[in-house]
Amino acid sequence: MNKLPVARAPVSEWLAQLPSVDKLVSHERSQDWLVQYGRDEVLRVIRLTLSLVRQECLENKRSIQPDLDDLLKQVAQTLSTRATPNLRRVINLTGTVLHTNLGRAVMPPEVIEAMSSAAAEPCALEYDLGEGKRGDRDELVEELLCELTGAEAATVVNNNAAAVFLLLHALSNRKETIVSRGELIEIGGSFRIPDIMKRAGAKLTEVGTTNRTHPKDFSEAINAKTALLMKVHTSNYMVQGFTAEVPEAELARIAHERQLPFVVDLGSGTLLDLSRYGLPSEPTPRQAIEAGADLVTFSCDKLLGGPQAGIVVGRRDLIQKIKKNPLKRVLRVGKVTLAGLEAVLRLYRNPDTLPQRLSVLQLLTRPESDMQTQALRLIPQLQEALTICGLTCRTQSVKSQIGSGSLPVERLPSVALAIESTNKAGEKKVVRLERLLRASATAVIGRLSDKTLLLDLRCLTPEKEQVLVEHVLSAAANLVTVR
Ligand SMILES: *Cc1c(COP(=O)(O)O)cnc(C)c1O
Repeated sequence: MNKLPVARAPVSEWLAQLPSVDKLVSHERSQDWLVQYGRDEVLRVIRLTLSLVRQECLENKRSIQPDLDDLLKQVAQTLSTRATPNLRRVINLTGTVLHTNLGRAVMPPEVIEAMSSAAAEPCALEYDLGEGKRGDRDELVEELLCELTGAEAATVVNNNAAAVFLLLHALSNRKETIVSRGELIEIGGSFRIPDIMKRAGAKLTEVGTTNRTHPKDFSEAINAKTALLMKVHTSNYMVQGFTAEVPEAELARIAHERQLPFVVDLGSGTLLDLSRYGLPSEPTPRQAIEAGADLVTFSCDKLLGGPQAGIVVGRRDLIQKIKKNPLKRVLRVGKVTLAGLEAVLRLYRNPDTLPQRLSVLQLLTRPESDMQTQALRLIPQLQEALTICGLTCRTQSVKSQIGSGSLPVERLPSVALAIESTNKAGEKKVVRLERLLRASATAVIGRLSDKTLLLDLRCLTPEKEQVLVEHVLSAAANLVTVR
């Protein structure tokens, strides 16, 4: 019908016969697109498509002449791709619950509700409704934070790296901060304690050795230029063997003897001792404050389970000083974050229901038997399609990680679907399957271990099960057709 004459004509002839922009935009199939995407976008994509085709013809990348149907298909495809958000949804089957590259903590419905309502409507972010005048945004969460940590005051910034940076800039600019050499850590490549210090204008005084630091290392390093003593929780690694570190209470005593503040960067900010939920313990801000820390910094999107933010809690006079620093304005959080943070913190008022209500904790405390049952429910739905491509699927015991540098050594027993090839020739298929799953509408991210694709089920919520099944089935179908 609409086909252009197929001929082995020279390229120039092909090009001359390409339909015009007008012809494409007035084609009946374009009419829905005009409504859906708007005239400007449809025209843009048609022009883009024609120019790509022209280029391909000139570079002899095409062996057949493009026909109208081809062109319209290409336009439809491009329109749809361009309308897909760049920030794609993911089903996290990596086995790392707090995966920094996958956005860390997922949040509970009441938190999401608070965030979307703050986004949709005006709210009293910095407005004292009683007095009818300007307020302070930190006050939205300060009381909750003080209640949950035992601190006198609190302030919130964009992330924990910002919290550490701001603290150092406000209190140790052009002065010295003493840190144990064993705690000069790097987190995820771009956060290195020594670099942050330098940028904040703080001079780093390293004391002790990588494995051992003693109280006298600190007391002997203190001089007239010392501003702070600092302890960094080495959240993502562990020094084992012949080690010694100075306990927080001892460091606080040494600092206070010389009228210096003692600060702790905790990193992962679990507000409760997680051992009550059967998880390994991680130090809490309350413990640090009780041990004598004057300031404590921690993240909100790690174990705390909320939106990306960083918190400094501690002595009122020091928090005041931090808040007066102009960089506080630079690093402040927005209303959506504060709304989410407040809603998450409220959940901590009832620790008994936390494992059911805080998504991160729900995932971390998921019993192995639950994942086992889930695996046995999934395998029959996948087996046949996988068999057709020469693959098998079975359950495998694995160890999930908490992630984001939290509880580095501890692993949580978990169950994965293990997909592998039944024969040597099919090993490449496992790799291709992994790639196809990653390219799904909701990207499915597992991990390849040796020649097996492991899909750790810890983070697969029941409502995502069918999405996973559909994506595996469609990837399998793709493996069969594209040989
Ligand atoms: C994660 C972490 C940070 C950085 O926190 P972000 O919220 O990622 O900015 C800083 N210090 C420690 C000890 C950490 O574990």
